[in-house]
Amino acid sequence: MIKVQKITKRWLLRSFAIIVVALVSIEALVIALTSNSYYSSAKQTVLTRASVIKNTLDYYSVNADIDFAEQTRALIENFAERDKMELLAIDRNEKPIMSSSGFAPQLSTQMPDLVAALKSDSGIGEVTSKHTNGEDIFCVTIASPSSSGDILALRLMASLEPTESRVFNLALMYIAIGLAMVGIILLANLIFLQSITKPVTEVEKTARRIASGDFGVRIDNKYRDEMGDLCDIINYMADELSQSENMKNEFISSVSHELRTPLTAIRGWSETLADDVNCNKSMRQKGLKVIISETERLSSIVEDLLDFSKIQGGRFSIKNEKMDILAELEEAILAFSEKAKREGITLTYNEPSMLSAISGDRNRVRQVFVNILDNAIKYSDAGGTVFVNASEEYGIIYVSVRDEGCGISPEDLPKIKKKFFKANLTKRGSGIGLAVVDEIVTMLGGTFEIKSQLGVGTEVIVSFPVMQQDKEA
Ligand code: ADP
Repeated sequence: MIKVQKITKRWLLRSFAIIVVALVSIEALVIALTSNSYYSSAKQTVLTRASVIKNTLDYYSVNADIDFAEQTRALIENFAERDKMELLAIDRNEKPIMSSSGFAPQLSTQMPDLVAALKSDSGIGEVTSKHTNGEDIFCVTIASPSSSGDILALRLMASLEPTESRVFNLALMYIAIGLAMVGIILLANLIFLQSITKPVTEVEKTARRIASGDFGVRIDNKYRDEMGDLCDIINYMADELSQSENMKNEFISSVSHELRTPLTAIRGWSETLADDVNCNKSMRQKGLKVIISETERLSSIVEDLLDFSKIQGGRFSIKNEKMDILAELEEAILAFSEKAKREGITLTYNEPSMLSAISGDRNRVRQVFVNILDNAIKYSDAGGTVFVNASEEYGIIYVSVRDEGCGISPEDLPKIKKKFFKANLTKRGSGIGLAVVDEIVTMLGGTFEIKSQLGVGTEVIVSFPVMQQDKEA
């Protein structure tokens, strides 16, 4: 049984897992890039401020009119950005002596930024470290350009907490958007999968019932896509199967009937002749004639069945040798002239002067004419005429057999070449004759056409291509 959930599971494992992995990777990258850009921008602000302070200090140190220590203290006291960062002065013992916040700053003993500032040519050093209160801070130290006085350096300290919380909020927002996207994709795809798995289950159940012989079941096709096409095909398959099942049953019953009728006649006459040892000569002759003709009938049915089984198994072979089509047509007409006369049917043959040779199989071509003539006489009533005509046009030989019999209804006409199909159930026949004609004519590269009007008559036209050399001649 098709496990429909398996499709969902496969989708979850293959497509959905890939989507989730891709989304998570993209999210991680976006969060990393955003966080990097926020931290860089926060640090850049402090560095820019440090650079301005450095220029101011340089100016104080080179200008003799300015009291460096006093101006530096004033710079700290009037520091405008105290709400964003803290500016403090560090004395030559590496201790803070003054802060823009007005409070005594708590500093860790380690100040790598101070060491870097004192060593570097630019006089500026930076470090990201932890404040004594546990906060992440960014520190930039500007070495004093003046060697006099007790100020060794100025230090800018900015907390990274606002940046951290901004990055954290953004990351949360990205994760929420990602989760929402995953949810929407999951929901949309589950709805879509449901729209596939539901009809698939329906198709599966119906196909199972058809396979178990319930040919009456059909799928209620509500779908207008490939699934709809599949349902149509399954319904069509069920139609065809039920039709061929009916045909098979009809075939079995008609063939049984076909076999029983001659067998009954043979048995009846055999018993009569066996019981009545003194029966007169004419009676015995009559009985033997019936036995012979019914035996011939039986062997023709068996031949038909053998041909049919060969067609079914793809073993229906045909020779391709130069042959005279008129000779075979005339032989078939001759074989039926007696029967036609007996049944009060006139057989008219419009004999052409000469026809080109064709490449074919003598016996098979005769079989085509026999089957068509047999039908024309069988489906005609006494007093009717069967017209046989042969002609050649543009390298094609046409043979037509037209009768004034019962005809075929327009609904039955397209099915007439199908195996076992019988439009007229009142007459004896296996329903294979025209299927064999079609097979032979097609194998010889010809065509087989049947025109009919119910109650008026039928015309069968078969064509064969002329043999190549004859065409050229
Ligand atoms: P069958 O052995 O039943 O005649 P065929 O394959 O020869 O089988 O023909 C199939 C069906 O076509 C027949 O059962 C009959 O209903 C119809 N048919 C064939 N030829 C004629 C015809 N000349 N006139 C009327 N019906 C015909």
